[in-house]
Amino acid sequence: MSETIPHWLTKQANIAPDQTAIELENGTSFTFLDLKEKSQHFAQKLAQLDIKQGSHVAILSNNNVDMVIAIHALSYLGAVAVMFNTRLTEEELEYQISDAEVSHVLAENNNTNFSVPVYTFFKVNSLQEKIVELRKEINLEDRFTIIYTSGTTGFPKGVVHTYGNHWWSAIGSMLNLGLNNNDKWLNALPIFHVGGLSIFVKSVIYGMPVYLVDKYDKRSVHDAIMSKGVTIVSVVTLMLRELVEYLGDNLFPDTFRCVLLGGGPAPKSLLEQAKFRNVPVFQSYGMTETSSQIVTLSPNDALDKIGSSGKPLFPAQLKIDAADKSIGEIFVKGPMVTTGYFKNEAATEKTLNDGWLATGDLGYLDDDGFLYVVDRRKDLIISGGENIYPTEIESVLSEMDAVQEAGVVGKNDDRWGQVPIAFVVTNDKTVSAEAILEFASQKLAKYKLPKEIRFIDKLPRNASNKIVKSKLL
Ligand code: ATP
Ligand code: MG
Repeated sequence: MSETIPHWLTKQANIAPDQTAIELENGTSFTFLDLKEKSQHFAQKLAQLDIKQGSHVAILSNNNVDMVIAIHALSYLGAVAVMFNTRLTEEELEYQISDAEVSHVLAENNNTNFSVPVYTFFKVNSLQEKIVELRKEINLEDRFTIIYTSGTTGFPKGVVHTYGNHWWSAIGSMLNLGLNNNDKWLNALPIFHVGGLSIFVKSVIYGMPVYLVDKYDKRSVHDAIMSKGVTIVSVVTLMLRELVEYLGDNLFPDTFRCVLLGGGPAPKSLLEQAKFRNVPVFQSYGMTETSSQIVTLSPNDALDKIGSSGKPLFPAQLKIDAADKSIGEIFVKGPMVTTGYFKNEAATEKTLNDGWLATGDLGYLDDDGFLYVVDRRKDLIISGGENIYPTEIESVLSEMDAVQEAGVVGKNDDRWGQVPIAFVVTNDKTVSAEAILEFASQKLAKYKLPKEIRFIDKLPRNASNKIVKSKLL
């Protein structure tokens, strides 16, 4: 089998030149032909800066169409896009510049200073084009992107994604969700994360419009679902909670067929509330290393298997490192799984073995082979020989109306080894620790009950909005 395919954007612009590729909130839209032409012109301007095959070029931008054009432009040059999280500090990004061997930064604004040249999209657009040969083909084994992990459990690592990883991620998702003629995928996730970026790769491969929202806002996402013909939206838990609340007693249109939920755990009560409101939630599981979702519920199972992340997408595989049906580390394998961390052999060797990726997450399979993700291995609390999973406790605490969110960690204890401690953010200052414990004791075994409730204003989160447990104690 040849590993080479035509450049996917050129191909789609040829198949469906007039089909909408990207639609913006202000009503502007771009066809696949527009997107190809803009990306190719942008590539020739980048060539003026000596960006070429093999260059590593960072993109520092919040959601906008220019960054999508820049990503495609880099691929026309055979350069690698290093996606920067705009919420990181300059110092953190400077580390990524050196670690990922970045030669240039392409930015939305010119308010940053780095050790390598920074060009705004505007500045690049003002450059003369240099006529260079643009790539007509894509080799699926070549590098397309480098994206750093969120740094929730340690230092962020640069994950290399080949074109093949992105290709198979898009195909695997389609083989699960199917593809309808009228599909339009709303993206409100940051494009610098793999979950957001993957929607634009799907768009090009499927010939499907993306409705692009600059920044997540419940009102604009709700309105777009109601009136813009959106059929699928990708969300994280926080967004789902807001969308369900905002929906109230209304119903989304029948044509709206999928809320793809990923990025982290979701409390069962929220999933049940969504089901009650007829919101078609498909929970998924994945990580930067798997080029977005690798396990997802299917349309047939979404309602029956609430709380499960589903089965591995075709043709991915999954195994749990534990005796029958018990909780163990999740391992995944498949063509959407990274080939490794950039220039970090040690981490790659530790994580990848014979194609199997050790995810660092714990989970189990039910009798029908559906995955339930339990927690991160690093967060496991062992108390008096019993395993305690903080996510379970957090999920119970957040069922209380007065509790906005909770983070549970293990504290060293002379008698038990470790005991769970809960950090709680409330939206009702009068609620007491006793009331919270009384509520929790109805749902949790005694050994799982937090030994202390500490009230805090907000939980420490990283640039990906994930709770950083190590900062709690
Ligand atoms: P780092 O690897 O640097 O510690 P990170 O793991 O948070 O950061 P990401 O790749 O952004 O970086 O996140 C992937 C992780 O998100 C998964 O490994 C898992 O812990 C969590 N996650 C994703 N989907 C789910 C899910 N459905 N249920 C529970 N956790 C999930
Ligand atoms: Mg990780």
